This record gives sequence, structure tokens and C-alpha cells, in this order.
Amino acid sequence: FLWPIGAWTGVYERTFIAVKPDGVHRRLVGEIIRRFEKKGFHLVGMKLVQPSEPLLKEHYWGLRQKPFFSGLIEYMRSGPVVAMVWQGLDVVKMARRMLGETDPADSLPGTIRGDFCMEVGRNVIHGSDSVKMAQREISLWFNPDELICWENSSQPWRYQ
Ligand code: UDP
Repeated sequence: FLWPIGAWTGVYERTFIAVKPDGVHRRLVGEIIRRFEKKGFHLVGMKLVQPSEPLLKEHYWGLRQKPFFSGLIEYMRSGPVVAMVWQGLDVVKMARRMLGETDPADSLPGTIRGDFCMEVGRNVIHGSDSVKMAQREISLWFNPDELICWENSSQPWRYQ
């Protein structure tokens, strides 16, 4: 069955994560999935997609006035993207911490951007910046039937 949007709280909170084209080309997909798995988050959706220009413009609608907008759309269209939905307690905020800052130069070692890239225009990964944005982005990138609700037997070992 499908969780109603309002139920995406607590351990059922969800976020949208995308390995950007540079991350896919640079073979960072496995490393990124590994970090989310090892943290204990629960994978509920994943696919390799070649995003269309309208999808990307919708995704980055809030940045449409920025001088880097057209370059950003071009970058995001330059190859396939691995789109994922991860679930878990406080996952939106925790994922942003795991990603690091928008500019890799400001990202600490130990974060994904801090460890694997150097420039803001090639920062290898996207993560939703709020629960509201996560809901918007998940519904933009995924059909409801692409999100799988499954029981994870390690739940008692991850949550008290
Ligand atoms: N970006 C860029 N130049 C900038 C700021 C952002 O190319 O000066 C790109 C970068 O790829 C970033 C994306 O635009 O990840 C979205 O920007 P946002 O401020 O939403 O940062 P994010 O939420 O991705 O950290």
C-alpha cells in the first residue's frame, strides 16, 4: 500500500537524492549508495534516468532567475542521473549533512561533496533541502507505483 503524504514523518520521513551526471560518469554511484545504506536509511525507490529539460526546469524552478540556471540545466542533462528515495528518522536533514555544503570548497572532509568534488557546478549529488521540497521532488521524479514499501528486519537494530 502507499503511505499518504502526511504520513512521511518520524521514521517514515523521506528524501529525494540524485547522483548527478558527473557522479554517474565518475563511478560514484556505489560509494554514495553505500554511505546511505551504512548509515541505516531505508531505500524505497531507485532508477537510472535521462532527465528531460522540462523535468529539470520544474525541479530547479526556484532558481530560474539565477545567472547559473541555464548552465545548471545543461549540466544536469549531460548524462543519466541515479534518482533515489531514502527513508528514515530525520533523513532530509541528515542527508544534507552527509552531502556537505552546496559548494564543495566549503564542504568538510567526510561529506560526499567534501570528499569527491571541487566545484559548485560539478558537485555530484542532489538532496532535498526540506521535508516539503522532498515531497514535491519525489512526486516530480517518481510515479507512486515506483516507491516500494517493504519491511526491514533490521528496524529494531536501528531504532530503539
Ligand atoms: N549551483 C551552481 N552555482 C552556484 C550555486 C548553485 O552551479 O553558484 C548549482 C549546484 O549544482 C547546486 C544547484 O545549482 O547543487 C542547486 O543550487 P542550490 O542552491 O539549490 O544548492 P543545493 O540544494 O544543491 O545544495
